[in-house]
Amino acid sequence: MHIAMIGTGYVGLVSGACFAEFGSTVTCVDRDAGKIERLRSGDIPIFEPGLDDLVARGVRSGRLRFTTDLPTAVSGADAVFLAVGTPSRRGDGHADLRFVEQAAIDVAKALSGYTVVVTKSTVPVGTGRRVAELIRDTNPEADVDVASNPEFLREGSAIGDFMRPDRVVIGCETARAQAVLRELYRPLFLMETPMVVTGLETAELTKYAANAFLATKITFINEIADLCDKLGADVQDIARGMGLDGRIGKKFLHAGPGYGGSCFPKDTLALARTAQDVGSPVRLVETVVQINDRRKGAMAGRIMAACGGSVRGKSIGVLGVAFKPNTDDMRDAPSLSIIPALQDAGATVKAFDPAAMHEAQSLLPDVEWCADPYAVAEGAHAVALVTEWNEFRGLDLERLGAPMRQRVFVDLRNVYRPEVVRAQGFAYTSIGRP
Ligand code: NAD
Repeated sequence: MHIAMIGTGYVGLVSGACFAEFGSTVTCVDRDAGKIERLRSGDIPIFEPGLDDLVARGVRSGRLRFTTDLPTAVSGADAVFLAVGTPSRRGDGHADLRFVEQAAIDVAKALSGYTVVVTKSTVPVGTGRRVAELIRDTNPEADVDVASNPEFLREGSAIGDFMRPDRVVIGCETARAQAVLRELYRPLFLMETPMVVTGLETAELTKYAANAFLATKITFINEIADLCDKLGADVQDIARGMGLDGRIGKKFLHAGPGYGGSCFPKDTLALARTAQDVGSPVRLVETVVQINDRRKGAMAGRIMAACGGSVRGKSIGVLGVAFKPNTDDMRDAPSLSIIPALQDAGATVKAFDPAAMHEAQSLLPDVEWCADPYAVAEGAHAVALVTEWNEFRGLDLERLGAPMRQRVFVDLRNVYRPEVVRAQGFAYTSIGRP
């Protein structure tokens, strides 16, 4: 099978490399010539564990290629995946479909022979039909089916998620298109991965429903954590007590500074807008969006409170700026709300992140970037743990505290046991724990 993957970002690059590993021949296309150049020279433009090896293997096997030449990639393909970005449209929160529509038109011009055009990007209901219409208008002769195959991988564990997914969702309307997609995912049949084969609209909405549900789960436990702070209860134990119930499940019950990242914020908002447009508002999701936005703003207040009510003239050390560990993705990261709020309140900020500092530099000006976690503590009035990278889990607390002006530790991810940190002479606050 020959695949053209249009868009070589987090999803396109991982999906392309994984399909090549499954045995397909994949050409990854991007309009960003710099990115393609880097990939061709063996330099992976994003941080994703294991991706460098996988890409190198694909390239060595001759089954993975990179190009800016979309027409050539598309003309020989059995399936063309659209994996371009669908960010929030400025002003109204709808998904911005500019990149998808442009890619559909570019692809349409280059189609030859029967091809399945598959939206892998997260797209609002109706986009598959719009893509089909654009292709028909641009190239009425094209022998094409349009399908939806939303992607559920998580940054940081993207390869494992793609290779061993909980399920594959396929939205399509012809047996022919279904056969192509089943063939592409055939290696997963051996592991009996469930396939949900359905219509276009259902597949598109399934992705939004799943993300909105997970965002709701996070937001729920965050509100319970705030309640714990008032009532003297422990949210970690509550999450465990709830999560062991098989109907609830343990995952996504970690209280923290609010969800961020490249998906949940934009997808919850886009779902809410779609639902409003068709007169069937999803009020629960609208509320989740509001609560989460407020929460990210409120986290700086927690750090200020831990510093005695003000950070004016104080130095704050920040551990982690990526929206979660094992990624360099800064999109909608809580640190983007927290750090500017601290700076606006008069603090100077030093920060360290194992992978995201390069990405963060232009987004967080005036931060002093440090070489390791201990350097952020030098002269600091407080250290805040914002992203729970593994390397922050076992810090030498004595070494951290020694150069601090005062030993204040704000743990926004509940990584440490309070008694352990307090035993080292720190004033320690976390989320929803006594
Ligand atoms: P990204 O911004 O990392 O990558 C998108 C790439 O598409 C960019 O490299 C861009 O240059 C390229 N591009 C845009 N228009 C193009 C065109 N016409 N031709 C060729 N290349 C083009 O985005 P991403 O994080 O990979 O997300 C892609 C889609 O997948 C989004 O809809 C997103 O919601 C969805 N998704 C993302 C994740 C995730 O964890 N990042 C997970 C599941 C689904």
